Amino acid sequence: MHDIVLIPGDGIGPEITKAVTTIFQEAKAPINWIECSAGLSAHEELGNPLPEETLEAIKKYRIALKGPLTTPVGASFRSINVALRKKFKLHSNIRPAKTLPHIESRFDNIDLVMFRENTEGLYIGKEKWIQEDEHAESIAVVTREASEKIVRAAFEYAKNNGRKKVTLVHKANILKYTCGLFMEVGEQIAAEYPEIEYEDLIVDNMAMQMVMYPNKYDVIVTTNLFGDILSDLASGLVGGLGLTGAANIGDDAAIFEAVHGSAPDIAGQNKANPIAFLLSSLMLLEYIGEQEVADTIRQAIYETLADKSVCTPDIGGSGSTTTFTEAVCERL
Ligand code: NAD
Repeated sequence: MHDIVLIPGDGIGPEITKAVTTIFQEAKAPINWIECSAGLSAHEELGNPLPEETLEAIKKYRIALKGPLTTPVGASFRSINVALRKKFKLHSNIRPAKTLPHIESRFDNIDLVMFRENTEGLYIGKEKWIQEDEHAESIAVVTREASEKIVRAAFEYAKNNGRKKVTLVHKANILKYTCGLFMEVGEQIAAEYPEIEYEDLIVDNMAMQMVMYPNKYDVIVTTNLFGDILSDLASGLVGGLGLTGAANIGDDAAIFEAVHGSAPDIAGQNKANPIAFLLSSLMLLEYIGEQEVADTIRQAIYETLADKSVCTPDIGGSGSTTTFTEAVCERL
């Protein structure tokens, strides 16, 4: 049995969490869930969006499955996702986007893996407000250490998984120091992996290339904010945000979550697609060495996708979160 911290999260979080725990139980996955809270729901119920007990549990058990957490726009608490990534030094955000069977999208055979630097850059919200002349500043910090970790993680993944190419995405023409450093690190590390093709692309060009020729890409490595944006784009290429899982891997812990957020527009309606969160939980199973049960569940998900009457509306189905969950359980 593995003790794993489970944070259901906000919005559709509890619904997709129920789908995962039901399927894991049916598949006899050897997991003992340690349930904890975080996010807007914890803020409203406990007066703290990141309770001490949750932090202690992640510190103790080191691996967590986390539902999406709402970050209120404007003046309120800052992103708990960002805080967790920082606190546990979760330097690598790994986001695969792969064509799934029976899912219609504009392209076939997409198989991209995005490596997004997860602890620095513009995304961490290092901002200040200057009252005197009413202006705001946002500071992006990029370090050699964090850049090396994510670029090396991308190359190691490529080497260990038979991948052919790593594409580094930046904006070093304009952001000469921050992205310039990231690119310099990329070139240095690429030289250590001569068997893997390496290229770099400016982010605006990359956005166009991914929409027009996604099959040209394999492993992509980029800074935090660009990775955030391009991984949603990659999700769109394979059928939407309901289909892409992610892992946050660090030195002190690993937290698995879907690429999508708390989807307040469909929360509580039994419409949420649980596949993205399921695929994240399969990444977790693989990470802890439970490959066999991960393969069994993946196969059941793929078979279920053939029956649109049980799938959720976002992928053209006429079913719900619960009908999909039940149908996967029947195929286990
Ligand atoms: P979102 O990802 O929650 O939703 C974007 C769109 O995709 C919505 O139309 C939604 O209905 C749809 N969608 C998302 N997941 C789906 C699923 N599983 N099944 C079917 N449809 C799905 O993005 P948003 O609306 O911009 O953000 C909502 C909240 O989530 C915000 O507070 C944001 O900060 C937060 N967020 C959290 C995370 C995280 O916890 N890692 C990631 C992204 C956004």
